[in-house]
Amino acid sequence: MPSGRASNVSEPAAEVDVAVVGAGAAGIGAARRLIGAGLSVAVLEARGRIGGRAYTVPLRGHPVDLGAHWLHNGPINPLVRLGRARGERLRQAPGERHLIIHGRAATRAERDSSSRAFALSDAAIARAMKGPDRPAASVLPPMGPFGRRVVATEGLVSGRPFDEVSLHDVPDMAYGDNFFIHGGLGAYVSRLGADLPIRLRTPVRAVDWSGQGVRLDTEAGVLRARAVILTVPMLVLQREDVRFTPDLPVPVREAIHGFTQGVYEHVVLHWPDAPFRGPDRLAGLLGEREEPPGLLTRVDDTPFHLFELDLPTASRFDNRDPDAPGRYARAVLAAHFGHRALSRLSVCRSTAWRHDPWSRASWAVVPPGLVSIRDRLKEPVDGRIWFAGEALSRAQWGTVGGAWEEGDRAAKEIASRFA
Ligand SMILES: Cc1cc2nc3c(=O)[nH]c(=O)nc-3n(C[C@H](O)[C@H](O)[C@H](O)COP(=O)(O)OP(=O)(O)OC[C@H]3O[C@@H](n4cnc5c(N)ncnc54)[C@H](O)[C@@H]3O)c2cc1C
Repeated sequence: MPSGRASNVSEPAAEVDVAVVGAGAAGIGAARRLIGAGLSVAVLEARGRIGGRAYTVPLRGHPVDLGAHWLHNGPINPLVRLGRARGERLRQAPGERHLIIHGRAATRAERDSSSRAFALSDAAIARAMKGPDRPAASVLPPMGPFGRRVVATEGLVSGRPFDEVSLHDVPDMAYGDNFFIHGGLGAYVSRLGADLPIRLRTPVRAVDWSGQGVRLDTEAGVLRARAVILTVPMLVLQREDVRFTPDLPVPVREAIHGFTQGVYEHVVLHWPDAPFRGPDRLAGLLGEREEPPGLLTRVDDTPFHLFELDLPTASRFDNRDPDAPGRYARAVLAAHFGHRALSRLSVCRSTAWRHDPWSRASWAVVPPGLVSIRDRLKEPVDGRIWFAGEALSRAQWGTVGGAWEEGDRAAKEIASRFA
């Protein structure tokens, strides 16, 4: 079943202890914790579905994630822990990768050279972290023939070119174990939101905290609460689509506006006779003029592949027709494997989260020198306004696990004050 079905959500009241804005992972995590603590809650969601940037759709009979797909950082990811407790079907992501150079499998020496380049990068980052903050790319040493590939990959997974990312914000490599979940990550998040008091198609337009508690203006009327948890993505808050009366304190506004847009988009391919063996392998395709920024092959052992676009690549398709990313993916793969290998390849979807009015980015990125902004937003405003969501997580930013953790943190703080 696609995530986003909300037939099982119940209607919230007009006055509650805590209002939660946004029914993505952070909002769902927060609401579950608050309800568990005995507080009354209303979750207000702008879209007509729940899950936010975790969203699974059925394509040709298979659940396919259009947003988040990986459960990263297994040892510290709360959704891995919760999934195990619920008996969800989790699988560890394979460590091996395909490496194809000029359309042929890389030699052992080439694979070793590639692994060395990634290891050099990790070691240099770990060392430099102890010094002052600066652009992450600036601390990388010469890494040999695969150096350019390493820098591009770091930029892809960061959401921006690596010289625009804070060195001090690069995640700790120690928690590398990743997992997949049967039926898709969006569907899992959606299951966790079942039975919560969520009001769909209810964008919050204004938060008034001039009197007692908070008053939220929505397109469907007014909601009053003692406190609010805002899980609205940072790039949406930057556009000031949600007005605050009085204005938020300057340090909070500065923190919100400090983030930059992280871009990571999927082109979903159905490619039954793709030349890759084994499910769920990342593939590096090198040696031609255009190289896919990222490629996840045979997703869940199906014919689906996720061709990933980084910011520089995705930007080339801004203001172009929606089929342009798919044509690009096809042209790149044809350059590596020849047109005949693509005769049964079809492009199913390409995402544009960076243009979606309720996300405006795949995640929020911290530029060099601004690493404190994540923590600054954890301080509640006047004991009434909490922020949560992936952007606040230091260890797991840009992830569903980090979003959940932050929703849970804000809810715990409120529960300890209000219960
Ligand atoms: C293509 C892509 C791939 C990704 N891959 C991974 C991955 O593999 N693993 C991983 O862990 N993470 C991944 N991520 C990141 C992950 O999806 C996010 O970090 C996470 O889902 C964010 O959760 P959140 O609750 O903070 O925000 P969201 O999920 O965005 O939830 C916020 C909610 O607020 C709602 N909202 C916005 N404005 C308003 C308003 N004014 N009023 C009411 N509601 C509002 C939105 O509609 C949304 O539902 C990926 C993201 C993308 C886009």
